[in-house]
Amino acid sequence: MQATIQSAEMAVAQCDRPILVERDAEGLQLALRALFEEALILHRMDSILRLADKATRDRAAEELPERELSPGYYRRAAYLLELSTTLELGVPVDPSTITRSDVIGLQAVRNARQEYEYDHPACEACGERQDNRFLKQCFKCATKFAGRGN
Ligand SMILES: [Zn+2]
Repeated sequence: MQATIQSAEMAVAQCDRPILVERDAEGLQLALRALFEEALILHRMDSILRLADKATRDRAAEELPERELSPGYYRRAAYLLELSTTLELGVPVDPSTITRSDVIGLQAVRNARQEYEYDHPACEACGERQDNRFLKQCFKCATKFAGRGN
């Protein structure tokens, strides 16, 4: 009997905190945005550091911006990205398993992605995402962007 009561309390404690994170659309959007930015930085590092030694790569990893929210947000954000990709790929998902919190989170994914894509437009020629939307030409393939003083 004792064990049953204890595990019930734990269940309450466990779902108490995640529910706050799951319903915090603003926080999730920030966390998602941070993950997109990290992915971009890691993608850049990957092409630069492919030949670098381990110490150089470790130092570079420390250059990632510090995460400002509690780890629960990034865990939730990673889950939402996976869910979003699953749905986009058309993998069948039982609609009854999608919760209200999932819908809130998927909206945050959409908003964060739109923000990210706006701030980092992809080069029309090579597809590489740019550091910002004010560059006049692609830093990678040097294609000039129309309407930016070219
Ligand atoms: Zn390009």
